[in-house]
Amino acid sequence: MSEKPIKGQTKEEHCETEVKKRPAVHIFPEWCKGCGICVAFCPKQVLEMGKDQKAHVVHPEKCIECALCARRCPEFAVFVSGDSIKESKKKNGGEK
Ligand code: SF4
Ligand code: SF4
Repeated sequence: MSEKPIKGQTKEEHCETEVKKRPAVHIFPEWCKGCGICVAFCPKQVLEMGKDQKAHVVHPEKCIECALCARRCPEFAVFVSGDSIKESKKKNGGEK
């Protein structure tokens, strides 16, 4: 069941809040081979290697959604929200 917009909030503002609440980066542990590349390339120390030899999202609040981790992972085990990647491409002039 989805939450109702807060009083005085437009439907669009409500949807925006929903998107922002979603974690931007997600690691699929079944695909992670523990190489540590994503951890090394993350400029904000969002990721860390765990005792299980898998990468983990430890500081999601620091994520700037640059998607470097997803682009460098050789196993395609990192997912950064589609909107964020689009935004990052726009900022870099990659998408017209
Ligand atoms: S780059 Fe990919 S395979 Fe390597 S540690 Fe990160 S998530 Fe795992
Ligand atoms: S999107 Fe960028 S800041 Fe966020 S975890 Fe990946 S490399 Fe780090």
